[in-house]
Amino acid sequence: MKVIEPLLLRAKGLRVWSDDESGASAWEIVYPEGTFFLMISPEVFRGFSGEGQLLRTLATPPPEATIAKVRAALKWQSQVDTEQLAKDIGASGSEVKAALGILGTRGLAGYDAINEHYFHRELPFDLAKVEEMQPRLGNARKLIEAGKVRRVDGASDPAKFEVDGTGTVHLVTLSDDGDSCTCPWFSKYLGQRGACKHVLAATLLMQDEESGSEDL
Ligand SMILES: [Zn+2]
Repeated sequence: MKVIEPLLLRAKGLRVWSDDESGASAWEIVYPEGTFFLMISPEVFRGFSGEGQLLRTLATPPPEATIAKVRAALKWQSQVDTEQLAKDIGASGSEVKAALGILGTRGLAGYDAINEHYFHRELPFDLAKVEEMQPRLGNARKLIEAGKVRRVDGASDPAKFEVDGTGTVHLVTLSDDGDSCTCPWFSKYLGQRGACKHVLAATLLMQDEESGSEDL
């Protein structure tokens, strides 16, 4: 909090949000020309993960060509119009949002949590290898490589998977209404810190199946 003390001298206002369950808080310092926004995570090890909410996007990214087109369209906009951008580059709105999320983890796009839109900015560090910094995603890939993830119900919806844990089997359900897992980590955080490694592994496996069937 000491970081923002000098910034308060010229401020017109201060807005604070906090989430009791996750312990995260957001501090918006308002100036006539703009705002300074600081989000504080309760624990250092959560780092740049955005409280885990972007892990699914990182696990199932849009095509690299789409990410490149979205990146090329960033011209220091203070507000990116995702629907218009989608039309301009011939992609879907959800693909453009996912691409912006990924560019965000690379320091190339910011998200204005107050007005709920992305903007272009470039942070002075290289996070191109951000996925390597996400141990949960790496652990999910290891589960698949070790053959510990199985689809249990064919093609029904919602999709169900079994994932071998230590001395137990976790049941994962993937659904448009929200994913779930029977592991203790998921019960503890209920998706607030993003998907657990079992949900991520099931998501990756389903993506592999879908891209595999397209090849036929
Ligand atoms: Zn789990």
